[in-house]
Amino acid sequence: MINICEVGPRDGLQNEKEIVSTADKVELINRLIKAGIKKIEAVSFVNPKVVPQMADAEQVMNSIPSHPEVSYSGLVLSRKGLDRALNTKIDTVNVVLAVSEQFNLKNARRSVKQSQEELVEVILETERAGRKPAGVLGTVFGCPYEGSVSIDKVFSIANSFIEAGCKEIVLADTTGMANPLQVKQVTESFVKAFGEEIELRLHFHNTRGLGLANTLAAYQAGVQSFDSSIAGLGGCPFAPKAVGNVCTEDMVNMFHRMSADTNLNLEELIKTSHWIENIIGRPLPGMVSKADCVKV
Ligand code: ZN
Repeated sequence: MINICEVGPRDGLQNEKEIVSTADKVELINRLIKAGIKKIEAVSFVNPKVVPQMADAEQVMNSIPSHPEVSYSGLVLSRKGLDRALNTKIDTVNVVLAVSEQFNLKNARRSVKQSQEELVEVILETERAGRKPAGVLGTVFGCPYEGSVSIDKVFSIANSFIEAGCKEIVLADTTGMANPLQVKQVTESFVKAFGEEIELRLHFHNTRGLGLANTLAAYQAGVQSFDSSIAGLGGCPFAPKAVGNVCTEDMVNMFHRMSADTNLNLEELIKTSHWIENIIGRPLPGMVSKADCVKV
């Protein structure tokens, strides 16, 4: 079974300059749940002056339904973000650090070492509060400012997060620099280093058109958990020209056609994709929703 974590409400929307209303964000999440999505990155607890689109995180969390089968996660870059997160009903705290120095300075205004020390404390505190921490490492497959990124550094940070209590690690290709061979190598090395009891989730952006190819490479290397964004929404305010995440309905279509089940309703996802395209008011990158005859 493929586990898809929908990141459209956070990674997808955060790069939109026009503020999407809280009501529309809540409706998007409700529509995704109707399509069968069980894991949703719903909000981000970052400085609202820096990412105004996420300023209503608390209101969104207050307005979405509590559902025993649905797990909501929120992005946290610092101790301050954790305090906000713990005041909501968030289930999972996605603790985010970009492995490349320059990217992390722009994204979190901290050196990698400063972030790592602060976030290890955040992970411990998340556990004490009875919520689940997930360690998200950005720019794992390359950095737009520094180029290649040391995989030893990636694994050393992952190790510190795992030792602090993370049972789930997300390797993110923040600006779409990964290629399928690299994904295969990194994935296999990760499983060798940390074993299969640590859930590995991959997060690809489609900046250079390799999002689905990278997803397939990771799947063939044994990964079952992926992030994706409805309609291919997304980008990153700190990643020049980054485009959206791999599109949810395109990913689901690929897996279903390979007879790999996702437990998701592709037709409902496509309807949701059309709906959000209307809200955003311009064509979005997803492909399968544009095909005039979709057999599901
Ligand atoms: Zn992303």
